[in-house]
Amino acid sequence: MINKNYLIRVENLKAYYFTNLYGIKRLIKAVDGVSFEIHNNEILGIAGESGCGKTTLLKVLLGIIKPPLSVFEGKVYYLINHEEKDIFSLSENEFRKLRWKIVSYIPQGSMSVLNPIRKIKDTFKDFMKAHVQEMISEDDFENLLIEHLESLGLPLEVLNSYPHQLSGGMRQRVTIALSTLFRPRIIFADEPTTALDVVVQRGVLQLLKRIQKEHKNTIVIVSHDMGIHAHTSDRIAIMYAGKIIEVASTRDIFSNPLHPYTKYLINSLPKIGDKSFKSSIPGTPPFLANPPSGCRFHERCSEVMSICKESVPELKDTGNGHKAACFLVEGGRS
Ligand code: SF4
Repeated sequence: MINKNYLIRVENLKAYYFTNLYGIKRLIKAVDGVSFEIHNNEILGIAGESGCGKTTLLKVLLGIIKPPLSVFEGKVYYLINHEEKDIFSLSENEFRKLRWKIVSYIPQGSMSVLNPIRKIKDTFKDFMKAHVQEMISEDDFENLLIEHLESLGLPLEVLNSYPHQLSGGMRQRVTIALSTLFRPRIIFADEPTTALDVVVQRGVLQLLKRIQKEHKNTIVIVSHDMGIHAHTSDRIAIMYAGKIIEVASTRDIFSNPLHPYTKYLINSLPKIGDKSFKSSIPGTPPFLANPPSGCRFHERCSEVMSICKESVPELKDTGNGHKAACFLVEGGRS
């Protein structure tokens, strides 16, 4: 019996980069044994320092697996029309049919999707032609577009503008409008507010929240910024060195972090009125071609025990869907 509350199920996923630099062959274990579920009707945040594997995980979930990246092991299932589909068994053509209609993507920089020499309206037209087989009249298309932009609160003047005539925040809003044109069930957003100032950032995040609420879809936000997750995500999965080390509701992550790494991430956040010195996480993330034995955080953990250097802690449920991979956590000793 399939649990219908999830949209994507990831099982023991291992996605590695095979590199050959100056004749030195290496296997970079960017995602290494990751299992989790993405639920219906939620905003899930994926957090962690840069290089922890979150963008690689996103690529695999979007089916963008090109050399040097390969999937070595594991499964990713999408639940479509109550049926589980193993995405690795889909042909490129079958997967292309899912993109934008079932699964959509908001990239880091809006300029990678907006054509600098085309007006916004023409970019939408090109997008429509590329992804809709059925013929649609010019008038119907205009009406659809106007309705869509109005529903997102975007001024219609943007349609006659070139990307360079818009502010960074407006360009990102247009990119979001493009990604949501076909009302996808799930949207992946990779650092969607990079390079935007705080006020504009807030507007973009509010737009994403509004879309999720109105469309009752699922949005996955990948960001290193825990502040963004605090204000936007319903649940958060924390990644460290290619593994998910904690996952819980946003409230539980912030009020009761269980993994020492999560505690560091939260303690390093600035708080209003708190002028105390914020120490950064000691050490640096490990090189994923040769990760540490046992718990991958053990070289940086102030609470390390001997077992941590020898055994890998499993991600275990401590109750209420709050999972953590640490030997300190009750039920976590394997
Ligand atoms: Fe620290 Fe050990 Fe927990 Fe890893 S398993 S986070 S090293 S206490």
